[in-house]
Amino acid sequence: MSACVFCKIARKEAPADLLYQDEWATAFRDIRPVAPVHVLVIPNKHIASVNEVEEDDERLLGHLFLVARRVAEQEGICQSGYRLIVNNGSHAGQVVFHLHLHVLGGQRMRYPMG
Ligand code: 5GP
Ligand code: ZN
Repeated sequence: MSACVFCKIARKEAPADLLYQDEWATAFRDIRPVAPVHVLVIPNKHIASVNEVEEDDERLLGHLFLVARRVAEQEGICQSGYRLIVNNGSHAGQVVFHLHLHVLGGQRMRYPMG
């Protein structure tokens, strides 16, 4: 997906505050943070949303959680806690159609989510 901004970030063709990258995933700070720590974890491969996930992606999705935990450790919010959010589709407010985990922390999160 050449036009996708998150694909560009993963390929380092667009600037981002990168926190972690490996062969499968990339973590970078959200450009409009809503919490003191607001990081996005994405698969390097373009998957538009959960709706486009295939069986072969099962391991990759698990890996995203491990990267999220690693980032939380790096950011010092592992013990205080953090929230993971995946917006999927229009009603959930998904804006960027490249699957991503929001990692939010550094303050007590508010409810409700819905
Ligand atoms: P969504 O609503 O799709 O789950 O969230 C997309 C998130 O991506 C938003 O929080 C938005 O601030 C962030 N975002 C959109 N474009 C960029 C960008 O070019 N760079 C970075 N770092 N974050 C972005
Ligand atoms: Zn993409």
